[in-house]
Amino acid sequence: MKAGDVRAALESKRARLLADMDRMTAPPADASNISFGKRVGEGTSYAVERLVQVELHDQMQVVLADVTRALVKLDEGTYGTCDACGGDIAPARVEGLPWATLCVSCAAQR
Ligand SMILES: [Zn+2]
Repeated sequence: MKAGDVRAALESKRARLLADMDRMTAPPADASNISFGKRVGEGTSYAVERLVQVELHDQMQVVLADVTRALVKLDEGTYGTCDACGGDIAPARVEGLPWATLCVSCAAQR
């Protein structure tokens, strides 16, 4: 992948993550329809759904941090280099995961 393509891929991933996270933290449009006490099951499944979303949101935040870091690395000229050991990140890994900031062995230790 060319550097320009990598940047475009990272920036679109970043925009998508931010949009998704925005939607998750926004109050749900149908929140006013949830009436507690009417049907017991509904409030519970809503709570479970929120829990799943919080977890997803956390994972997205981790990816977002990696994407942001990868963009900085592009600017620094250290893109493709492991943040932990300074070694090269395998091209196949970067190809599949353009926001990888650690080599495979360092990522496994994280
Ligand atoms: Zn490493």
